[in-house]
Amino acid sequence: MGNYLEDPPIKLLDFMLSDISDYGGQIDAILIAGDLVVHGLSNSDPNHANWPKMKDVVSAITASVRRQFPGVPIIPSIGNNDVLNYYKTPNEDKKALFYGDLYDIWFANTAQAGVQNTFMQGGFYRVDLAEGISVLSINSILLNTLNSVSETTSETLQRQWLEDQLSNTSDSSRFFLTMHIPPGQWWDTHWKKYWKDDILDAYLALFATYQSRIIMLLSAHAHPGEVRAPVSAK
Ligand SMILES: [Zn+2]
Repeated sequence: MGNYLEDPPIKLLDFMLSDISDYGGQIDAILIAGDLVVHGLSNSDPNHANWPKMKDVVSAITASVRRQFPGVPIIPSIGNNDVLNYYKTPNEDKKALFYGDLYDIWFANTAQAGVQNTFMQGGFYRVDLAEGISVLSINSILLNTLNSVSETTSETLQRQWLEDQLSNTSDSSRFFLTMHIPPGQWWDTHWKKYWKDDILDAYLALFATYQSRIIMLLSAHAHPGEVRAPVSAK
C-alpha cells in the first residue's frame, strides 16, 4: 500500500493505528516524535514554503490518531521535515503563523489547550500525565546544527523553561523528555554532531544535573533503532 518515498495513504495509517488499538490495555498518552511530513516538502529555500500542503498532512495524521484514540493526550514533537524551511525554525516574522497553526491542529479545544503560552514561544511544552509524572516536549529543531536562522530568543526561552521545570519541583517528580533530533553524534563520511556545540554542552549539563528526575529521553530522526547514553557528569 502506497509508494516508496511518498506519504503512505491514510488507509495504511488507520490500519496501523487500529492494530495498535487491538492490543488493548490502557493508553495514557501518545508520544509522536516528529517528521510527520514526507521528505522534500519542507522547502530549503527561505523564500518559499509548502506550508498549506504540509499543514494538511499534519492535520490528517492528527485527526486519524484522534479518531482511533479519542480523549488520549497526543504529545507531538516537531521534526526537521515539519518546519516551514527544512531543518530551520521560523524567524520572528513567521513564528506566530507556524506555531499558531500547529497549536490549532494539535492542542486547541483539547485537554492540553493550556500549553499555548510556551508552545507559541518556540514549540516546547509540558503535559502532566499523573501526579508526579510529566512529559516535557523539547523543540530540538531549535538546537540542531543546520538551524541557521537569526532568531535565537526561542532557544534561550526553551533552555530557561527546561531548567525551571526540572528544578522547581518536588524530589519525587519524574519526567519523560521527548524531542525529534537526539543529542550526540552521527556518522556520514565522518562523525558529525546533531546539535550546535555550545547548545549541546548546556543541555547535557542540564540532563546530568537533573538525571535523577529524568526517566528517559525519547527521540526519532536517526532511522535505525538506537539506545544512547548521555554523559552523566561534566
Ligand atoms: Zn528527522
